[in-house]
Amino acid sequence: MAAFYQGFDPEAYLKYNYTPPRADFSRSDSIVPWKLNCLHKAFSEDAIKGDILVDVGSGPTLYQVMSGCEHFNRVILSDFLEVNRNELNKWLKDGQSNFDWTPYLKHVCELEGRSSSAWREKAKRLRSVVTDIFPVNVHHLFPFPPGSLPASGADCIVSCFCLESVSPDVSSFTQALHNLSSLLRNGGHLLLIGALGESFYMAAPDVRIPVVPLDEAQVCASLSASGFELLQLSVYRLTADMLVGVDDVKGVFFAKARKL
Ligand code: SAM
Repeated sequence: MAAFYQGFDPEAYLKYNYTPPRADFSRSDSIVPWKLNCLHKAFSEDAIKGDILVDVGSGPTLYQVMSGCEHFNRVILSDFLEVNRNELNKWLKDGQSNFDWTPYLKHVCELEGRSSSAWREKAKRLRSVVTDIFPVNVHHLFPFPPGSLPASGADCIVSCFCLESVSPDVSSFTQALHNLSSLLRNGGHLLLIGALGESFYMAAPDVRIPVVPLDEAQVCASLSASGFELLQLSVYRLTADMLVGVDDVKGVFFAKARKL
């Protein structure tokens, strides 16, 4: 799978998945607002909090930690590709990203009951709590560089659209989930978002990355086989206008689980 990722273009990927119609904040049936709402509810209403929040396979995106950054002292991002780690650094360290995360920050502020004008405070908070952007490989038994986490592990892991898009089959997906659990403390939470029924996605105009097509039952079975207790599974089904020709995804799952 690593070879498929050599042509990954952060700018194209962001345009395909993180602009309208998939990121239309005026619609509650758009994919991105649905994901942000799931994450907001998990962190706010379920009071998931602690010292370290880890995001596995961040790609070039930051939306997935915009709620969680308020509930943890430290946020660690990670990606397999240097181009993606550089893209994250551009926004976090220099503010020089070409991608505008402001509508995302505003939307999450509104979910939190704050005025959308609080987005600058949230951007500042995010920049101050992200302490590291590590290389990661979920096919390794311990996916992070040695010594990068306290021995007890992180308090919570978020991972979005990573495991199914780097695994050739369901058994590899399950093993990757098992490897990911080595980063998490016992009793810690996993918030997993992923694609259902997807066989490929485009990561640049001519870069087609294979994906293992999953259904809800397989996600539940893989979580259980990897030592997680499933607490919640929510599913979003794509409407016709969300199919914009950059993948063949049928749905999106949000799983909240706890490491036993
Ligand atoms: N999390 C982002 C999101 O929600 O849009 C990006 C998901 S993107 C579909 C999959 C990500 O997995 C890419 O950023 C890619 O670099 C990363 N990746 C590729 N191979 C990997 C591996 N072996 N271990 C961990 N991540 C990997």
